[in-house]
Amino acid sequence: MPIKVLESEVVAKIAAGEVVERPASVVKELIENSLDAGASQIAVEARSGGVELIKVSDNGAGIPAPELELAFHRYATSKIGNLDDLEKISSLGFRGEALPSIAAVAEVEVLTQTSSETIGSYLHLRKGEVVRKESRARPQGTTITVRRLFRYLPARLKFLKSVNTENSHIAHLVSQYALAFPEVKFSLVLDKRPSLRTTGNGDLREVVNETYGSEVAQRMLKVEQNDGSAKVGGLTSPPSLARSNRNYLSFFVNRRWVRSPLLIRATEEAYRGLLMDGKHPIAIINISLPTQELDVNIHPAKAQIKFCHEQAVFSSVQKAIEEALARTPIASSKTVPFSVSSGQWQSPRMIMDNEPAFVVAKLPTMELPVLRVLGQLANTYIIAEGPDGLYLIDQHAAHERILYDRISAQWTQKEVEVQGLLQPINIELSPREEETLRASKEFLTEFGFTIESFGDRSYVIRAIPALMARANVIEIISALLDNLTSKESTHPWEEKIAQSLACHGAIRAGQQLSNEEMRELIKQLEQTKQPRACPHGRPTMIHLSSHQLEKEFGRIS
Ligand code: ADP
Ligand code: MG
Repeated sequence: MPIKVLESEVVAKIAAGEVVERPASVVKELIENSLDAGASQIAVEARSGGVELIKVSDNGAGIPAPELELAFHRYATSKIGNLDDLEKISSLGFRGEALPSIAAVAEVEVLTQTSSETIGSYLHLRKGEVVRKESRARPQGTTITVRRLFRYLPARLKFLKSVNTENSHIAHLVSQYALAFPEVKFSLVLDKRPSLRTTGNGDLREVVNETYGSEVAQRMLKVEQNDGSAKVGGLTSPPSLARSNRNYLSFFVNRRWVRSPLLIRATEEAYRGLLMDGKHPIAIINISLPTQELDVNIHPAKAQIKFCHEQAVFSSVQKAIEEALARTPIASSKTVPFSVSSGQWQSPRMIMDNEPAFVVAKLPTMELPVLRVLGQLANTYIIAEGPDGLYLIDQHAAHERILYDRISAQWTQKEVEVQGLLQPINIELSPREEETLRASKEFLTEFGFTIESFGDRSYVIRAIPALMARANVIEIISALLDNLTSKESTHPWEEKIAQSLACHGAIRAGQQLSNEEMRELIKQLEQTKQPRACPHGRPTMIHLSSHQLEKEFGRIS
């Protein structure tokens, strides 16, 4: 084909592809516009994962009638005027791309009115073209309705995940903006269900209460530091309150929600030695910097930024969080990593006296030699002797393997043992967790959970898999929901559930075991299908053969 300049409709769709990756991207752009317009109330509604409808209403400045059509032109913006402005951007938007991009891939209606107008204006666009334009009244502010997203981009539509997944992205996104702007009253309705509502009273802890529940809100530690180069504020979790993925790390730079590996590292550095492997903190961190200190124009969706002085920002954040942690008594156990979590592990209601720690599995495979327990090392490894040398067994990994095999077997054979709870447990979910729960409820029921909705994102857990009877139920549920939303793993849900349950039901490192318990653990490990690796593929044991020992001691060469 000869070279030719693309038609504007094609160009618009290509550009739109960068800005509007999925329904949540539309929600993001519309919320940012509302915030830039100074709104103190923003109501978001989505249907069918945002594909059928996305509606964002605000009480911001509104768009003057003569400018309304212009707002849908590419690179039309009221936020910057010249090159100098680009160096010191204080608004969230500035590229003038969002509205034209959205209009290129969906049907859009706008109803808006400014404070000086006596009547507002309405505009309806289809395939980027105006199909209707008239005067219509509304209170000051703007409502943008987006319908049939990606209808004319079948490839993109096909690429979208289930309604539940898209809903959960939207829920997560709105939660992030609510956390970034506690003074703005946000509401989110998904498929006609209220999912999130904040008061807009300016209190970050209250927003955390709405998004992550009251327990998290109460326990979060205040972060507050101004060391000259960057002002750092927000809330961060004590080490005993951790999550199994990084979805609960939120960073806002000059109030812009950003995804920044640098800031993640700075935060995790502050928790070094305080959290178990695979655990991550919950943090909401606001960083204020002079606008010249950062470049926000490196990403079409403005999700990434570049700091001029990366190292300075890194250490400001690390220091601010370390200081917050140091103000709590728990942080003093920094040198003993495992004691932090193991003490909190068992929920008092769930411990059943005289119950053997492990229930014997009756599977006939024998891939391990018979081992004799010699003792426990660092309350973490079992030292055992076999016919050919020494075995060091990781008690957590080994128990994980045992539980995983049993959970999977019970599920496959549809013979799941269920443990009813004498005292049902209440749990509050974040909007995102709630979406995941709705999507996975059937599976969770098959695995032995009975979870009932109590409205307002509260749930009551009435029964759990019997194999989980010793574990902390709330932690198990939140880890499960985390794992199910995690993008990293592409395993089928039933496998993610079995893995997560095994991991969280297993005895921890740092827990002292009696000889009887250690013998029982090894006996059960011998009977698993794959005794040498945990379900994540990590080794459960290290073997030093008699030959290796003799060599190490110079008995043979
Ligand atoms: P940008 O935000 O980068 O300026 P957009 O395409 O998102 O570009 O919006 C174009 C313009 O439309 C904005 O600069 C602003 O003037 C106006 N606008 C969009 N949404 C709103 C809103 N909710 N309230 C007031 N003005 C708005
Ligand atoms: Mg914008």
